[in-house]
Amino acid sequence: MIPLGLVVADTEAEGPGRRFALWVQGCPLRCPGCCNPELLPFRGGTPTDPDALVARILATPGIEGISLLGGEPTAHAAGLARVAAAVQAAGLTVMLYTGFTLDALRARGDADVDALLAACDLVVDGPYDRTQPDTTRRWIGSRNQGLHALTGAYDLADPRFHAGETLEIRLVGGEIVVNGWPWKGRGLP
Ligand code: SF4
Repeated sequence: MIPLGLVVADTEAEGPGRRFALWVQGCPLRCPGCCNPELLPFRGGTPTDPDALVARILATPGIEGISLLGGEPTAHAAGLARVAAAVQAAGLTVMLYTGFTLDALRARGDADVDALLAACDLVVDGPYDRTQPDTTRRWIGSRNQGLHALTGAYDLADPRFHAGETLEIRLVGGEIVVNGWPWKGRGLP
């Protein structure tokens, strides 16, 4: 089961195009100034079956992919690898945000993490550093973080990756949910 902290089924603020974005509950890191402190504890979240999540994603019209955020997605790699592989096989793209560097993740030799990375088209890696806010690359928090195209699905020279930040504000079940940068708020899985 995947502990979901938040789901936004159709957003343009968490990667290229319209995307199904999901935030997992739980992160082992503690980046100062983390925008998602509610998602740091490993307790909580809504336990969600990966196959049910895939079905929900594939039933969402008009999206070009999914974005995996947190929390720390690689801390929930087994379930997310299953989701990522299934949606990628169905023709959608997968974007992953991780607080670890790609090199560190690959050096672990963790089969679940490797499987997750194998199903990713885009990876934003490295811890958020609030002293280095990134004002030129869209969808990326700080300048120390990397953006990697692991497949040919995206060209990082695409102007969409360098446009200004996107901020979305929506009312979900009586709560205000803000997506983009900075993210503050809660939503309903
Ligand atoms: S990796 Fe992300 S969720 Fe975890 S502490 Fe850093 S900014 Fe927050």
